[in-house]
Amino acid sequence: MRKIQYPMLNGMSYLDHAGTTLPSKVLSDTFSEQLQTTLLANPHSALASSPSVTQEIVASTRLSLLQIFNASPEHFEVIFVANATAAIKLVLEAFRGYEQGFDYYYHRDCHTSLVGVRELAYQSRCLASDEDTEQWLDSGHHLTEEMEGNRPTLFAYPAQSNMNGRRLPLSWPQRLRPSLEHKEAYVLLDVAAFVSTSPLDLSDHKTAPDFLSLSLYKIFGFPDLGALIVRKSAAHVFDKRRYFGGGTTDMITVEQPWFARKKGCLSDAIEDGTSATHSILALKCAITAHKELYGGLSQVSKHTTWLAEQLYDRLSALRHTDGRPVCYIYKDPKSQYGDAKTQGATLTFNIMSHKGVWVESLEVGNRAMAAKIHLRSGAMCNPGGMAHALGMTGEEIRKLYAAGRLCGQDNNDRSTPSGMVRASFGACSTLSDVLALARFIEKSFMADGNELRSGYRDCAHYQMFKKRN
Ligand SMILES: *Cc1c(COP(=O)(O)O)cnc(C)c1O
Repeated sequence: MRKIQYPMLNGMSYLDHAGTTLPSKVLSDTFSEQLQTTLLANPHSALASSPSVTQEIVASTRLSLLQIFNASPEHFEVIFVANATAAIKLVLEAFRGYEQGFDYYYHRDCHTSLVGVRELAYQSRCLASDEDTEQWLDSGHHLTEEMEGNRPTLFAYPAQSNMNGRRLPLSWPQRLRPSLEHKEAYVLLDVAAFVSTSPLDLSDHKTAPDFLSLSLYKIFGFPDLGALIVRKSAAHVFDKRRYFGGGTTDMITVEQPWFARKKGCLSDAIEDGTSATHSILALKCAITAHKELYGGLSQVSKHTTWLAEQLYDRLSALRHTDGRPVCYIYKDPKSQYGDAKTQGATLTFNIMSHKGVWVESLEVGNRAMAAKIHLRSGAMCNPGGMAHALGMTGEEIRKLYAAGRLCGQDNNDRSTPSGMVRASFGACSTLSDVLALARFIEKSFMADGNELRSGYRDCAHYQMFKKRN
């Protein structure tokens, strides 16, 4: 099936599904057929009396997407955006509309795109651990001293870390909510990494987060589209948003600044400009193709959880002759491979050579690529998670930057790594990918001096060098 559906792999072990997964052949075939036979028009050009084909496709695709997460359209709305980052920025834009500003709390494991929100908050605080977070949730701190003034609170965290795949508790939104009677408090749950290989159940809207950001290409490989899912009972924050774009107003005056935002559907009021209709058609095809090939995210979760456990077992067992581990795996102590509740299908590590020096993460990535294994190496867009895992303080990071080094580059002295290597699985991964990576590491980094050099022969630049000499 993989050979037929993913011809672009062509013998490659692709292990960067957390970066993006790959589109199947059946998806691109059905999309290409649909694109040729569907007359897509600008949805804003439709006659009000009858929805156009385009509007019907957009509406039914919104519904199909909600269905994947057991989210009732009675309680949730889908807003189409460019990617997860755009979804986050849309929420930010709403909160910026509060005259008194907003207070922002974010978990250490947040993706860079969530960290950036703090720059526009009235005040912000990083919750540096789960314990910190739970203490904060329980203490009602969001109601007291530090939160004086009647600013709303926005609390953001990822359902899964994009750095090491650790999964965070989904119970936090309901612990924040009791404060609502005193003060406005909202949860933005970033599910971009989580839903790529896990089901998400929003059937109980009362315990659900208020805003969910996701990137659809991470689930389906195509289209390059994102979504913001909004709990309707929190939709009113978008009334605060000041900007309006094309298609979102009922009436405007231009010479005097007045406008009336569209009422009814939230998507009508905040999806600025022409919606990505061709991408939405592709999403419709993607949802069907994914179901056909994999039977849904529960199946994908079982499969990828198992693969990640296989890789963890193999890599953690690799030892140098003196007994030292070859791979230093950045697993959170609270997570367990094989347990989908605490750990996603991602494994992040660094390699220490038999001589006791760190191998640069970028070198591991390059050599793996030469051996037809696609990994992510360097930085992971998760600055808090990385700094914590590598034991780097803020001062150290700023010193390194001052010395000319950028995010994800390795230390020249190799005393500590500052990049990482990440392997992540997707629906189309197989055990052969696990074995290929384990074999590659064994062959390239484990042997004595002579064999280590023989490992270097796999390198493209080494072969080029040999040929020229
Ligand atoms: C990938 C990712 C993002 C950013 O997604 P974009 O599509 O690049 O905007 C945000 N958060 C997490 C957890 C991610 O994995």
